Amino acid sequence: MFLTITTTGTAENPATDLGFLLHKHPDRVRVENQSHGTAHVFYPEATAERCTAALLLEVDPVALVRRGQGKGRGGAPDAALAQYVNDRPYAASSLLAVALSGVFRTALKGQCVLRPELPEQARPLRIEIPVLPARGGAELVHRLFGPLGWDLVQAEAVPLDEQFPEWGDSRYVRLVLEGELRLADALRQLYVLLPVLDDSKHYWIAPDEVDKLLRAGDGWLAAHPENGLISSRYLARHKRLTQDAIERLELVRLAEADGSEVEEIDNAVDETRDTEERPVPLAVQRREAILAALRSAGAARVLDLGCGQGQLVQALFKDVSFTEIVGMDVSVRALNIAAKRLRLERMGERQSARVTLLQGSLAYTDKRLAGYDAAVLSEVIEHLDLERLPALEYAVFGSARPRTVLVTTPNVEYNVRWETLPAGHVRHGDHRFEWTREEFRAWAGQVAQRHGYGVAYVPIGDDDPEVGPPTQMAVFTQTDTTDTTDTPKEGEAA
Ligand code: SAH
Repeated sequence: MFLTITTTGTAENPATDLGFLLHKHPDRVRVENQSHGTAHVFYPEATAERCTAALLLEVDPVALVRRGQGKGRGGAPDAALAQYVNDRPYAASSLLAVALSGVFRTALKGQCVLRPELPEQARPLRIEIPVLPARGGAELVHRLFGPLGWDLVQAEAVPLDEQFPEWGDSRYVRLVLEGELRLADALRQLYVLLPVLDDSKHYWIAPDEVDKLLRAGDGWLAAHPENGLISSRYLARHKRLTQDAIERLELVRLAEADGSEVEEIDNAVDETRDTEERPVPLAVQRREAILAALRSAGAARVLDLGCGQGQLVQALFKDVSFTEIVGMDVSVRALNIAAKRLRLERMGERQSARVTLLQGSLAYTDKRLAGYDAAVLSEVIEHLDLERLPALEYAVFGSARPRTVLVTTPNVEYNVRWETLPAGHVRHGDHRFEWTREEFRAWAGQVAQRHGYGVAYVPIGDDDPEVGPPTQMAVFTQTDTTDTTDTPKEGEAA
């Protein structure tokens, strides 16, 4: 399996910058062992004017079969021979996509620590894949790559046998793409579309495959006219996952049309590398930890303050022990997306009576929020300026006063563990601050004391012995039911 990426340049903007973008030095040959074979990266040409990187993946077909059988998913008995005699080793397939994401992992994310400006720039690219299985033929290749900003999309059918033209064409094409794109965008398109064209994804489809598809599709898939076909094939025609992907893409498209950012799984840094190992995304772990804390507090009527696009509201809704769920956010756009996610308009009366979405701000007291069992502030406080925190504190702990309050926020100490997060950067552009464990506890301890709550801390995600967990959660439980605090009034800073 073979793929080349070529770019051109000038003395000021040399083509060899491709080496920085790919994190692979043009003078060296890199060999990496992958789960399905060996990947080689080398540069057949590397001058300031023109530079080509080649990715060659050698697949061990026997190991491939053994791996499959070892996991109890060998083929049907009559397919026994086909398992050994097939095109896997030669044709670019989903295996090449996996190799691409492994070898060019950082490039795929559009990151370059040494030259951070480079990934942002579009540059002239030529991508060639000599043998690409294309179920749906050249016509489908054009439908898939056509809308993605390439100047040239060429898909030439490869004859079955050059000696016998009368035998007709094989199902392979030689693909050439030319245009001016950001390399990361091009790679992410290939990562998704190679397995789509191959249409026989080799690995197990797990639920987080949808997350991966949405991450790789960021910026191009939601608006793609074929996103239904792409999702279905990428997810190996798994009906429920495909439906899920299509709905989520629709939400992304709405948000894009609105000009707002979608906070799909909160951090792009939470990437999974190998398709075989599937860590649970941090956002999912956070939701699970919140649900567990709410259940153990025995909460039935719950506020989700700063609910964003309603992922937690949806999870709460699925559990009937939560009898009343209120999502509140300052952003109308986010609430519209949440309503769509929940399909509020299509719910029956009894179901829809369980959920309310409110627009409001945590910087002000709000009578509508009084009298609930619990309130969740998941990844919200860090979106407020520090000077606004006393107002939020009063609105939640002084005025609304639910029995239980859960507050989660990033633990900044953990940031050094995100391989791809440049030193000193916060995880999300809109974070006004990120706290250490000590800073968070100092704040939470004082809040608890001022308002008659006890507080405990729960780590979320991998709890690193040195730097702690990626997310920290404070669980506040009311001890004093008569609030005697003399905290500032509405909207006032302390
Ligand atoms: N709770 C969600 C969303 C976190 S993003 C989650 O865990 O995924 C932070 C959210 O806080 C955004 O939706 C933002 O609109 C909201 N927010 C920011 N300032 C706010 C304020 N003053 N009042 C209410 N919501 C606010």
